[in-house]
Amino acid sequence: MLNLVLFGPPGAGKGTQSAKIKEKYNLVHLSTGDLLRSEIKAGTELGLKAKSLMDQGQLVPDEVVIGMIDSKLKENKAANGFIFDGFPRTVEQAKALDTLTEQNNTSISGMVALEVDEEELTTRILERGKTSNRADDQNEELIRNRVQEYENKTAPVADYYKAQDKFKSVYGVGSIEEIFDKLCSAIDSL
Ligand code: ADP
Repeated sequence: MLNLVLFGPPGAGKGTQSAKIKEKYNLVHLSTGDLLRSEIKAGTELGLKAKSLMDQGQLVPDEVVIGMIDSKLKENKAANGFIFDGFPRTVEQAKALDTLTEQNNTSISGMVALEVDEEELTTRILERGKTSNRADDQNEELIRNRVQEYENKTAPVADYYKAQDKFKSVYGVGSIEEIFDKLCSAIDSL
């Protein structure tokens, strides 16, 4: 099984590239951001709780996203592999993901990271905010909060995979195809 973690700050292009990777390697795409937004849309209790945190650019509690991933893994037992997008975002989540994959007799193949500088990220997210209808995409201060959460809580997740020799990074500025090609080389070298 190929189980990939696609990593990078908000606005790095994880969603765009996940769709292409999913297609090429025949994987199930699991985005915790998308899963949370569908809970909000469905008006569930979980969605209501998550919404206020997300609207402020803060992370939702680990147990919430871990629970969502757990049920998705159980729903997709026959999958060829998974691409995790926006998860794990804390070291706690990374440890939980190892436990969950082990329970399914598999493991994480590796992490591929997209590297994009903060200026470019802010520009991209504000641009996306014009059409995405996401409150967290429309305000510069909120975007900075998200980048801050990323620096503080999420960046250390890369070290977790580096320590296991499962980390590759790719420069995330250029054409979608160019970046995709670089990601594929990184994935194939894992
Ligand atoms: P982006 O990467 O562009 O910020 P996402 O759709 O991945 O967008 O996430 C949007 C928001 O959803 C995050 O700011 C956070 O509040 C919440 N979220 C998504 N994934 C996680 C996660 N793994 N752990 C905690 N919160 C999460």
